[in-house]
Amino acid sequence: MEQTEKMVEKQKKEGIASIIAVILLYGAFKLLGFGCPIKLVTGISCAGCGMTRAWEAMFHFHIEEAFYYHPLFFYLLFLEHGGYFVTNYILRCIN
Ligand SMILES: [Zn+2]
Repeated sequence: MEQTEKMVEKQKKEGIASIIAVILLYGAFKLLGFGCPIKLVTGISCAGCGMTRAWEAMFHFHIEEAFYYHPLFFYLLFLEHGGYFVTNYILRCIN
């Protein structure tokens, strides 16, 4: 039981560190004037290109514009939350 709590705590710390790393990386790219690093290197849009603009549009309640930038922008929410719940469910089943 105690080991599970340590695992969950470790996962929380890793999740927070990941979010901070993404924010710092995004900020650095934004400050340097880059967009997507994959598009910068290859010249080809990646699967995530337009996701940031889509969420920015969504936060302004411009849903149609958000779909224009990336039609699967809402999927990220399901993916992230689904992963969290599935991980918690598995951890509960183990113990
Ligand atoms: Zn991209």
